Amino acid sequence: MQNGFFSVPIPINEPVLDYKKNSPERKEVLETYTALYNSNIDVPLYIGGKKITTKKLARMSPPHDHKHTLGRFSIAESSHVTEAIDAALAASPNWENTSFEHRAAVMLKAADLTAGPYRAKINASTMLAQSKNIFQAEIDAACEFADFLRFNVAFASDIYAQQPKQGSGVINRVEYRPLEGFVYAVTPFNFTAIAGNLCAAPVLMGNVVVWKPSDHQMFSAKIIMDIFEEAGIPPGVINLISGDPVMISDIVLDHPQFAGLHFTGSTEVFKHLWQQIGNKLTRYKNYPRIVGETGGKDFIFVHHTADIPTVITAITRGGYEFQGQKCSAASRIYLPASISDEIIAGVVENIKSFSIGSPEDMNNFITAVIHENAFDRLVGYIEQAKKEDEVEVLAGGTFDKSKGYFIHPTLLKTTNPHYTTMETELFGPVVTVYVYEDKAWESTLALVNTTSDYGLTGAIIAQDRHFIEHASGKLRHAAGNFYINDKPSGAVVGQQPFGGSRASGTNDKAGSAQNLLRWVSPRLIKETLVPATDFRYPCMD
Ligand code: NAD
Repeated sequence: MQNGFFSVPIPINEPVLDYKKNSPERKEVLETYTALYNSNIDVPLYIGGKKITTKKLARMSPPHDHKHTLGRFSIAESSHVTEAIDAALAASPNWENTSFEHRAAVMLKAADLTAGPYRAKINASTMLAQSKNIFQAEIDAACEFADFLRFNVAFASDIYAQQPKQGSGVINRVEYRPLEGFVYAVTPFNFTAIAGNLCAAPVLMGNVVVWKPSDHQMFSAKIIMDIFEEAGIPPGVINLISGDPVMISDIVLDHPQFAGLHFTGSTEVFKHLWQQIGNKLTRYKNYPRIVGETGGKDFIFVHHTADIPTVITAITRGGYEFQGQKCSAASRIYLPASISDEIIAGVVENIKSFSIGSPEDMNNFITAVIHENAFDRLVGYIEQAKKEDEVEVLAGGTFDKSKGYFIHPTLLKTTNPHYTTMETELFGPVVTVYVYEDKAWESTLALVNTTSDYGLTGAIIAQDRHFIEHASGKLRHAAGNFYINDKPSGAVVGQQPFGGSRASGTNDKAGSAQNLLRWVSPRLIKETLVPATDFRYPCMD
């Protein structure tokens, strides 16, 4: 019960630490990395505050050192899934009645734990689980997760403040109820912050969650649960279930009180889940909310007026950071003929300078791709490209999975703008360039807009202001996050709300109030002060 209108802290983005030689943060994260590397941790299921280690376990290993065992995670049986749903529903009444300032306090504490005492742990676990170098781990696990937690509190406060007009003789108010039932969060391997936020966003709005993390993020998922627990999220509000995604989803989506899906992952899986929900619609108590952020085939379109070093850096960082395993990674590049040779030479030089190996060595810009399937799939595309007349391998094209899943960053050039690597999401360090005649920029923009099914991110690089305005209009629906004179990746919470449309998702913009609105079901309450006691209108004598 609150007796005051409380304000929440104004969020600021968590500063990114440098990890320079001899810095205390570098020393701490490396020590934590070594300790976690040797920890042999078992990750249990988390159901109603209980930690359950199941009989069937799966091995966790670093992608850059796959013979090493980090520990094991529990594989749920069907009964565990039902128990997790029951635990969530049992926790729901208390949590939805917990006042906002207390829900917010828990989230703000989780943010301070992430940025403070857990910083080295969440970063080191992300380096180990997902093979991120320290810079990529820092901007994701420590900073973006803390940002999500802090900014969401401010966005929620703004949402709650939106109230209807008052009328004569009546009081109107809107109560932003959580959804009735539970939310199912299904999360990808590639961002620790996304995994945490897909649970935390609905929970902040008073919902309870069953969380199915990716098998390939389990090691850092445990640290997220440790943080939530220490921050004081009550038992049952977030329940972690790992194991067979099909079995788990079948049970969850069968439940009448399934109230919403918060998904990030591939387009194919999202479409499948949506179809399942549609087929089961008649059994639900409410129409479930469906929020999904999915794949991308993100572009950089370069105009002949572009600044060449800007383009070279945008392709190098946008295409190859985290081995191209960002949904926003640039993977199809359109270069004007007059400056293409100079740009390609610059990118090739950068690629040749990349150091590749374990994230423990902080000089490494490139580490391993996530797992053997991804490695084999990417190698398939590279080997095929080598055989094609219409494709030239300009850099990279080598790979080695003996110790870790290492793929040398690869630059392809094609004469066919519809070549498969210009259209398909590869999710790896493979970038394809198509060179167009300078004067054909208009028709090439049309090509950019229609080449792929996706609409996630894209960038144009140019100095000509008329071109920038024109291209921004032509590509209006080609990207939900559109960048001018920058790479198309690296969205920051609160600054660049993230998401795309077309096959890339529902575009509910993670890290914004729009996303939080999907997790509430507003109730309008009208109270009449002196109610009418006669049904007749004044015009009726
Ligand atoms: P994925 O689709 O393989 O897995 C995502 C989640 O879905 C995992 O938890 C997985 O276990 C689960 N899953 C897999 N098959 C399932 C099934 N049949 N039924 C139910 N659940 C199932 O994706 P990933 O490899 O972890 O992540 C990479 C993908 O995520 C890429 O396509 C990338 O573009 C996308 N992504 C998008 C965004 C965005 O904001 N748009 C952000 C990050 C990643």
